[in-house]
Amino acid sequence: MKEMAEIDQSRPATVRTAFYPGSFDPITNGHVGIVTRGLRVFDRVVIGLLRNISKTSLFELEERAALTRAVFADQPRVEVRTFGGLMVDAARDAGAVAVLRGLRGVADFDYELQLSTMNTRLAPELETVYLMTERENFHVSSKLVREVAMFGGDVSTVVPPVVAEALARRFAASK
Ligand code: ADP
Repeated sequence: MKEMAEIDQSRPATVRTAFYPGSFDPITNGHVGIVTRGLRVFDRVVIGLLRNISKTSLFELEERAALTRAVFADQPRVEVRTFGGLMVDAARDAGAVAVLRGLRGVADFDYELQLSTMNTRLAPELETVYLMTERENFHVSSKLVREVAMFGGDVSTVVPPVVAEALARRFAASK
C-alpha cells in the first residue's frame, strides 16, 4: 500500500479535459462514439452545444442540451454546456487542454482544417484532437437523421433511444 501511495504522489494531479463542440441537433450514435472514445484519452469531456446563429435548428438549444444530458446521465466524466460566441473562449472556460472533433471522411477534412487553422491562431495553446468515426457510424449525420425522421423512417439504429423518442414525438406533433 505504501508503494502505491508513493507512485500516486509522483503523478501530476491534473484532470485533462477535452471540449467537444457542435450543434448536436440531435445527438447521434456518431457523436456518442466520439465522446465515449474521447474518454479513453481524456479524464473529462465537456460537450459544448452551439447556439447557432446561421442555422435554423430542429430542436431548441435547451432541448438539445437536455437530450444530450439524458444520453450521458450515467457518465460522471461528461458535462454538457451551451455556448454562444467563440468556441475557443468556451473551451478555455471549460478548462480544456484540447478540442475534440470527429472525422467521417474527406468531406469533413476540408472544413476541419479551416476550423483548426483559425482556432490555432485564436488560441495557440489549444490542440485539436480528431478521432475517426467507427465504421458503423460513417454515414450518420444529424442532418440525415432529421430528414429520415421527418418522413417517418426508423432512426432507432443510429440515435440513442431518448433521441428516437423525441424525434417521434416531434414529428407526430407536426402531422
Ligand atoms: P457541425 O454542427 O459542426 O456540423 P455536428 O454538431 O453534427 O457538427 O458535430 C460535431 C462534431 O461531431 C464534428 O466534429 C463532426 O465531424 C462530428 N461528427 C458528427 N457526426 C459524426 C459521426 N457520425 N461520426 C463521427 N463524428 C461525427
